[in-house]
Amino acid sequence: MATLEQLRFDNTYARLPAGFTARVAPTPFPDAHVVSVNPAAMKLLGLDAAEALRPEFAQVLGGGRLLPGMEPVAMVYAGHQFGVYVPRLGDGRALLLGEVRTDSGDKWDLHLKGGGPTPYSRGGDGRAVLRSTVREYLCGEAMHALGIPTTRALCMLGSQQPVYREAVETGAMLVRLAPSHVRFGTFEYFHHSEQPEHVATLADHVIAAHFPQLQGESDRYARFFEAVVERTAFLFAQWQSVGFAHGVLNTDNLSILGLTLDYGPYGFLDDFEPGFVCNHSDARGRYAFDQQPRIGLWNLACLGEALLSLMTEDAARAALAQYQPRFAVHFLARMRRKLGLREERAEDRDLLESLFGLLAESRVDYARFFRALGRFDTTEGARQDLLRDQFLPPTGFDAWAERYRARLRAEGSVDTERRVRMDRENPKYVLRNWVAQRAIERAQAGDSAEVDRILALLAAPFDEHPDSEEYAASPPAWGRHLAVSCSS
Ligand code: AMP
Ligand code: MG
Repeated sequence: MATLEQLRFDNTYARLPAGFTARVAPTPFPDAHVVSVNPAAMKLLGLDAAEALRPEFAQVLGGGRLLPGMEPVAMVYAGHQFGVYVPRLGDGRALLLGEVRTDSGDKWDLHLKGGGPTPYSRGGDGRAVLRSTVREYLCGEAMHALGIPTTRALCMLGSQQPVYREAVETGAMLVRLAPSHVRFGTFEYFHHSEQPEHVATLADHVIAAHFPQLQGESDRYARFFEAVVERTAFLFAQWQSVGFAHGVLNTDNLSILGLTLDYGPYGFLDDFEPGFVCNHSDARGRYAFDQQPRIGLWNLACLGEALLSLMTEDAARAALAQYQPRFAVHFLARMRRKLGLREERAEDRDLLESLFGLLAESRVDYARFFRALGRFDTTEGARQDLLRDQFLPPTGFDAWAERYRARLRAEGSVDTERRVRMDRENPKYVLRNWVAQRAIERAQAGDSAEVDRILALLAAPFDEHPDSEEYAASPPAWGRHLAVSCSS
């Protein structure tokens, strides 16, 4: 295990032509201190856990002291925000401190969020607040534990410095890791600013680092786009199956690697409400939960357009046509596992759709329902009280349960065995808004123990944690319908 000073940097992005980045010196907080460290992310970098106890840790990761090899840059990008093209966005409050090359050959962007203004701040203060930092810190790990591709959070740094939002809040910083922070909007920036040579340079960069098998192929750009379509279809299918609403699916928040990126006003469904809008600034519900799959395609079409100097329109269309069928395959695959089904049958899609109809009608708690479904009893005439009590009236559920029972029987499903399998698919703990909110309030009061506790809980969301049962319950009255805004 390495010390901070032993980290090796290989800053491939900073070496791209000048127009890709701006060199920026971070603006550290004078009183930056560690609020929480994610042990799993320390391991990814090969860093010894004890490194976080050194005073240098907060200095280095907070941008107060550069290690040899670090070259902080802000990345330029553009993007479609709520459907409208914005020609220049870029890292307005984030800095790529450097790219760490690990002993296992992995490469991790060390990305500081809240490190002060950059040429892309557009009048913003370049800061982040503790509230949004806690939310991103926890959710990255929650998603990872659910098997969903995501950026990871290394640590949170706190400060007493005021940051002005709708109210005065305290500043904080997040250091996150990802194999790349290139966004759909990075390609859009170079395409729409009429720099096709840079579109090619960027595509070559991403292909070399992340799709090396395509290098040297004559149709590599079309195949790269196909690969992004596939990853995006996979990602969105995962979100839909776990009940995650991202909240701000602008093209600048879509990762070229199909990672969940830029956690803002996201939300996990409590009650199953297909039209759930987690972002209270999204008055029209453009990014409502049930709109996400089509937004995935819309965003890919923007990316496809930005790549038209590298592939034909026919190739772009053919790749886009794969999105919907690939989404359906991935969604059904994960939902079958959530239902405990091992075989694939034609009727499964309809079984699932009727279930979604019933869940929506009775506004059943999504995570709790699936966790309880693992206890389904296939004995003839068994009453499924735990489940049926969640539906009002239960008649529709009773009819569905009969179909489900027949379907399970048809594949010879064994209750005890299926239950074990389903408990590894249906999390007992998800990052409900109220859970995040409580951790935030305690952290704001100077107590970060709750953040650490939730981080550990969500890192093992399928396990039983007897002393944390309350987090698996339906939300308390105050924690229902918490409004979350873009302001962060
Ligand atoms: P987001 O909605 O967080 O994805 O951010 C959209 C754009 O606004 C990005 O270019 C961010 O870098 C920029 N931005 C957001 N908050 C700030 C801030 N406090 N200061 C400067 N730029 C910001
Ligand atoms: Mg963003």
